[in-house]
Amino acid sequence: MTSLHSCSQSGVPQYHTVILKTVGSACNMRCAYCYEHDLRAEASPFLQPNDFKEFLNQISHSSEVNFLFHGGEPLLYPKPWMKEMLHMIKEALPGKHMIQFQTNGTLIDEEWLEIFKEVEAYVAVSISLDPLSDISLRHLPGEDYRKIVLKRIADVLRELGTVGVVSVAHQANLSAYTLFIEELISIGVPYLTINKIRRNHQAKVQANRYLLSETDYVSFIKETMTDWLNRRLYEKIQIQPFISLLSTDVNQICQYLPLEGKCQSFITLYPDKQISNCNHLHQDRQNIYQKNRNKLTEDCIYCSIYEWCGGGCLAEEKEDDFCQARGHLHQFIKGVFNEGSGT
Ligand code: SF4
Ligand code: SF4
Repeated sequence: MTSLHSCSQSGVPQYHTVILKTVGSACNMRCAYCYEHDLRAEASPFLQPNDFKEFLNQISHSSEVNFLFHGGEPLLYPKPWMKEMLHMIKEALPGKHMIQFQTNGTLIDEEWLEIFKEVEAYVAVSISLDPLSDISLRHLPGEDYRKIVLKRIADVLRELGTVGVVSVAHQANLSAYTLFIEELISIGVPYLTINKIRRNHQAKVQANRYLLSETDYVSFIKETMTDWLNRRLYEKIQIQPFISLLSTDVNQICQYLPLEGKCQSFITLYPDKQISNCNHLHQDRQNIYQKNRNKLTEDCIYCSIYEWCGGGCLAEEKEDDFCQARGHLHQFIKGVFNEGSGT
């Protein structure tokens, strides 16, 4: 097993998010924009509980750890193994951990709900769902995935009292977000995260047809956030990245965090026991990462908005309009603050 470096020595935050890819990139869905299917063409065997135990021993000194079960689809993992892993975490880091499941939601059943409920630590279940639009990039072969997922969201809400929805904004669904936010409010979803579609390096061209430039994305944020503020929808649903962008604290979303070592605060464990930092920094992105790191240390630190902008995601290629669009977003957020303070 690859050894972990000490985070305190590298000057990155002590707080770790451990991304557990227990099933690798295996998934029962076939979403067109998914970059996971590209990372490992062959379905790898699942992570063995004993290997996880070995990993846990390495991080048992940590002050606090957020374990994020990710995929592929993490609920493909055998339930008895999942129970064993959750028990190991509880034993190794009593009172010092949180558990998060990032799932497509389709496999949630009564047994999974029981497993979620048995977690004694803070547990969060985030389910992927996109707005209803003419072109959907999420696919569950032979099924109406949306109908299934909406039912599962209601089940998690009923049993856990809360649930998060994670969506992907792309060219074909931007105009559907107003109705989507209303739809989520109507069923009682209190948290929504809106992610920008990522470039898919090896997959079919189809998904990349729907990429958003930073300019398009910023226009979308400005418009949607304005509506959310004007109609006081924030009283019913918390939306990321809006909450973080409007917070006076240092932004905790890594894409906006002005820290050279930000990607090292994530650890990803793969089924074959390999360990890397953020899952987005897979081998095929190393060149992009290096280029972005260089920009961060050579250009960004002289930029007047670096403390706010953070230089973006270090695993993503930056289009020519990136900095200008970030500048516009910064101005917009400053305007919201000024309006709020009556100046
Ligand atoms: S606007 Fe551009 S140069 Fe400035 S911090 Fe952001 S990415 Fe760096
Ligand atoms: S690669 Fe991007 S998503 Fe991952 S930690 Fe770095 S900035 Fe965040």
